[in-house]
Amino acid sequence: MLPMDAEFTVIRDGAVAVRDGKIEDVGEYGEIVSRYDSEEIIGGEGRVVIPGLVNTHTHAAMVYFRGLADDLPLKEWLEKHIWPAESKWLSPQFVSDAAELACLEMLKAGITTYNDMYFFEDAAAISTRKMGMRAVLGVGILDFPSVSARTTSEYLKNAERFIRDWKDDGLITPCVAPHSVYTCGPDTLNKAKGLAEKYDLLLHIHLSETEWEVGETMVRYRRRPVEHLEDIGFLDENVLAVHCVWLEDGEIELLAKRSVGVSHCMESNLKLASGFAPVVMMLMSGIKVTFGTDGAASNNDLNILSEMSTTAKVHKALSNNPTVLDAKTALLMATRWGAEVLGLGNVTGNIVKGKAADLVIINIDKPHLAPLYDIYSHIVYSLRASDVETVMVAGKIAVKDGRLMTGDESEILAKARAWGEKIRQ
Ligand SMILES: [Zn+2]
Repeated sequence: MLPMDAEFTVIRDGAVAVRDGKIEDVGEYGEIVSRYDSEEIIGGEGRVVIPGLVNTHTHAAMVYFRGLADDLPLKEWLEKHIWPAESKWLSPQFVSDAAELACLEMLKAGITTYNDMYFFEDAAAISTRKMGMRAVLGVGILDFPSVSARTTSEYLKNAERFIRDWKDDGLITPCVAPHSVYTCGPDTLNKAKGLAEKYDLLLHIHLSETEWEVGETMVRYRRRPVEHLEDIGFLDENVLAVHCVWLEDGEIELLAKRSVGVSHCMESNLKLASGFAPVVMMLMSGIKVTFGTDGAASNNDLNILSEMSTTAKVHKALSNNPTVLDAKTALLMATRWGAEVLGLGNVTGNIVKGKAADLVIINIDKPHLAPLYDIYSHIVYSLRASDVETVMVAGKIAVKDGRLMTGDESEILAKARAWGEKIRQ
């Protein structure tokens, strides 16, 4: 078992005792079994227990646009394909059905918490709860009309109503999600920040994803995107900045100084050829960099295991240094740091007494996982989503022996195919 504590302890044949949704104790399997008659004891021979993985940035319902338009530049992909498809198809029913598929995909890949930015988030919240998953959800805020709102004040009103409705939920935590510096003016960003401060919530924003965004911000504000956010007093430890691809050294310093968390979406950045985020520099500056999948339309899957592996390898190659982004660091970024940058550091992210039982059991009795010298290495470089056997969120089993326990898998897939048929026409 890998509790992901400060010492990177490895417990051989480890197990977790679970009671009332929380971790009651952690230790060797034999010892835990003899000491506790807990509701559930997680672990055993040939099995490795790790904390549930955290996906720090996605647009879950976009799974229904997976593979709809590929191999295009970001701007053309968004403006000619994704935004038109969204304005034609988005509805609470679409988000409700699509979020179920996204949760199914994520749970089966060992993800127990995700951070979302989208529209009709009530529907996403209800589906996520039903699927037994933990999520931080933010109603997207823009300065131009979409299917979900006509004016900025309507977006803000929707966002606040969502916050009030969900702020006391056990699995769902609201966040405030202004889309970006190029879709939200300073006044909107300030109001979004005010809302986050009023309810003490995470501020979730795309930042410096493309070179175009930097140029556009320079034209409008004579500042680079991070400098612009610093100028308006937006940056602090409650901000999660997504992408952070085009950063100059001074901007990295600013993000570090303000304790901003970063969600790095390697596969989405690679596929859209957005550029390479300076991840190693950010880590060296003390910034908590974590993993996001982004939406499935630009990735094209929701898999943190592959993000870890790809990210580690790409940044080794870019740095011309195979020692950077080692396996332990990668798993830390995908678990404890992920929870911390979402403001859930006291709730989830590692396996310690008192935290929520958000656990993943991996079956290591597989050809591509033998022999075993270093379990961190296996998890980051060799593990596949199909090796995830059991997934527990807040003490409830969501996936058992690779099968969904909180819903009907074939029904979710049938709905996805039916929507796909409609969207294709
Ligand atoms: Zn995104």
